Formats: sequence, C-alpha cells, structure tokens
Amino acid sequence: MMLLLLACATDPIRPPAVPEVVAVPVEPEVIAVPPEPEPVIPEVAIVDKPLPFSDARKELTQQYLATHWGEQHLSGELEADVTMIPRMIVLHWTAGPTALGTFNTFAPERLPGRPALQRAGALNVSAHFVVDRDGTIWRLLPEDRVARHVIGLNHLAIGIENVGGIDGYPLTDAQVAANIDLVRYLTASWPTITHLIGHMEYQDMEGHPYFQETDPTYRTIKPDPGADFLGRVRAAVADLALEGVPD
Ligand SMILES: [Zn+2]
Repeated sequence: MMLLLLACATDPIRPPAVPEVVAVPVEPEVIAVPPEPEPVIPEVAIVDKPLPFSDARKELTQQYLATHWGEQHLSGELEADVTMIPRMIVLHWTAGPTALGTFNTFAPERLPGRPALQRAGALNVSAHFVVDRDGTIWRLLPEDRVARHVIGLNHLAIGIENVGGIDGYPLTDAQVAANIDLVRYLTASWPTITHLIGHMEYQDMEGHPYFQETDPTYRTIKPDPGADFLGRVRAAVADLALEGVPD
C-alpha cells in the first residue's frame, strides 16, 4: 500500500512539457550577385577580304608549327592545329605602298623567294588585318587562325599590318586611330589577350613562356612599325593595361 501511495504521490509530477519544435523552413538568404557584365565589344568598321586558305595552306601552317613550335603541341587534326587562342597583338608595317599589294603578297600559300625565310618553311607570310593608309581595316583571316608574321609567337599572336613604312609612305594619323580602335575591339573580343608589342620588339619576348622557337639561329631584325607609331597606339590604350615586352 505504501508503495502505491508513493506511486500516486509521484504521479502528478510530470516533466514539464517540452515545447514542440516545429521545423520552419528557413528561406535561404538571397544575396544579390550582380550578373557578370557582358563584355562590350566596341563597334569598329571592319571589311572582310579573306585570304584564300586552302587545305594545302593549312598543311603548310601545321608543318611550320611542327618545326618551329614543336610536334607535341599539335593534335594532327588540321583545323584544330591551325586554330589558336590569341594572347598577343603584334603591330607591323608592310614596307609597301598599297593594301592590294599586301593582299597579293599574302595570297599564295607558298613563300616566293626570300631564301632566308624559305629555309625556315614553305608557308607564305600573312597577317590577320591590314590597315590601309586612310584607316580602312581589312580582315584577311579569322582572328584565331595561325598566320606567319612573327618568329616565335605565331602560335598565339594576331598580326596587324599597316600599309606604308617606306620612303614617301610614313604611317598616317588615320592608321594610328584605326589601330587604337582595332586593339580595343580585339581585346574586348578575346579576353585572353595580354600583350601588345611592335614587330621590332619581338626578340625581347625571348625567355617569356609565350616565345617558342625551336631554332635558336632563326631570327630576323625588324624595324616595324617604328617607336613613334607604337608609342602613340600604346599611350591611347594604356587603360587596357596590356603588357609589352619584359623589362
Ligand atoms: Zn612586321
């Protein structure tokens, strides 16, 4: 009986009710992430005048790269091997008086004459753009096609040729303006581009990972496009923070 009483006495003592925990779904905090701004590609008047680019020219390009850059960089697939990721812009002058003359020089797939260059490969020289004396911009090649225009850097460099650079044909203010527009257009189109150099500076890229030339004796001395022209273009695009040759 005693036990029962005790039991009864303890009965009303119940543990305090634990408030039921109701799982309230927590709204994830919405953090406003501004969308990546679409790169604004400045509008530039570009006239397409494609160079003939036969399979034979592609094969010569592939051979040039195999010899001067190295087989290990190539896949063997023609289209892929002649396509590059642009990382640099190289400014040139043509040392000739007309854009048409330049186009006609670049058009054949094989290099005529120029024995010093012939020894290094049969692929003809070319460039992606030719800027005429009045500032007209001609695009000769897709911007990511490998062209032969600068020793050691062809596998990643877009070439811009400026008509002139010989006696009586100094480069013009219109060409400076067109090069500025084109550099802005290209760097907006290809965020991979980090460098802007003049052809005359290319040997100073030696030692930089971009410079890849298997033949240490294959070098030519280049004066183009001149310090004044290059300096004016560089100063006008300083805000792009493109690198030049290493110090
Ligand atoms: Zn050049």
